[in-house]
Amino acid sequence: MSTTQPKKRIAIFGSTGSIGTQALDVIAANPNLFSAEVLTAQSNDELLVKQARKFNPNIVVIGDEKRYARVKEALANTDVKVFTGEKALEEVAAMDCYDLMLAAIVGFAGLKPTLKAIEAKKIIALANKETLVVAGDIVMQKAVENRVPVIPVDSEHAAIFQCLVGETRNPIEKIILTASGGPFFGKKPNFLVNVKRDHALQHPNWAMGAKITIDSATLMNKGLEMIEAKWLFNLRPEQIQVVVHPQSIIHSMVQFEDGSIKAQMGLPDMKLPIQYAMAFPQRIANNFPRYDFRKPNTLTFDEPDTKTFRNLALATDALHKGGNLPCVLNAANEIAVFAFLHNRLGFLDMTDLIEKTMNKIPFIEKPSLQEYFDSDAEARSFAASLIHM
Ligand code: NAD
Ligand code: MG
Repeated sequence: MSTTQPKKRIAIFGSTGSIGTQALDVIAANPNLFSAEVLTAQSNDELLVKQARKFNPNIVVIGDEKRYARVKEALANTDVKVFTGEKALEEVAAMDCYDLMLAAIVGFAGLKPTLKAIEAKKIIALANKETLVVAGDIVMQKAVENRVPVIPVDSEHAAIFQCLVGETRNPIEKIILTASGGPFFGKKPNFLVNVKRDHALQHPNWAMGAKITIDSATLMNKGLEMIEAKWLFNLRPEQIQVVVHPQSIIHSMVQFEDGSIKAQMGLPDMKLPIQYAMAFPQRIANNFPRYDFRKPNTLTFDEPDTKTFRNLALATDALHKGGNLPCVLNAANEIAVFAFLHNRLGFLDMTDLIEKTMNKIPFIEKPSLQEYFDSDAEARSFAASLIHM
């Protein structure tokens, strides 16, 4: 990108998280390409203030209203505008002061601001996979209507997106989503039954937020990613295959109708898909470590064990049945992971909670947006009622 081009003005929704902080590193390293114009956080007001002092954005939003006064006061001697509350996230998403939203809020909470950004015709760099799991048909339809690109940040989907550059006329036979297998790859239920929070939070290849780290340990993350891929790349469920690849060097693959397979590879580092999505269609030079094929290393591939990691089977079921079932699966999973992180639910009990919720909430074949919101709320309240506190 030449220096005469205007900077891309970035809004990071979820700037204090794992993705958000890495995105700010990318912006700091490329001040001629990007400026941070909007930063939002739910509760980490201290980090939000620090980020605002460093990047001097137009606007910050602190989700938790109890922390508004502190943020406002800390930024009193700056030009930064401070807003608070859930509604403010949606209002700011619709504002003119930015070009690209990095959707890096975790969970269902990311859906509404992203919809507003699409309606305001912003480019979407999508980390928040739950947005597409909950209401992928509506989100992608809105993106088409508003001619808004949705560029995936999730490393697997970023890989597939890159494999598809230049292939618009060539149908996909199937995609192969790689999964690291998480910290408990190869383990059986008699081991998993005793797994506690701190153990499950140790991921072998990636340092991520707590929710996605647990999802990686249960393989729900891969299930959510199958659903995410269906909507991003307009695939039938049968075209989506998961393969365990513990080294996380191949980030995913596309197989075309001639049997040819393209893979996107590299060392696991989320900054790569983040900067690719932010700078697309350009690539940004960097000096991150490179993968070296000459060193002794082995790339291995395995079938996922869906009998042990039943969350992946439940998500596959939701992928095939569609309707509001992925939304219900996601809501129950958010409740289950939250409870597990607070030591109120066992590792394997998370799956039972999700399964019971999926069986309980009435199926809706073609939900409206309001019906998705209602299904989410019903599923959360039912799932929570099953947890004894
Ligand atoms: P995180 O928990 O580290 O950060 C989440 C961010 O969202 C924080 O800034 C937090 O303040 C904000 N937030 C949390 N709850 C909120 C709410 N109710 N309302 C508004 N803001 C809220 O999470 P993360 O690991 O950065 O993941 C963010 C998203 O990106 C997730 O959807 C995750 O699945 C996806 N993702 C993450 C990675 C990764 O490497 N971390 C990789 C692929 C995809
Ligand atoms: Mg991923």
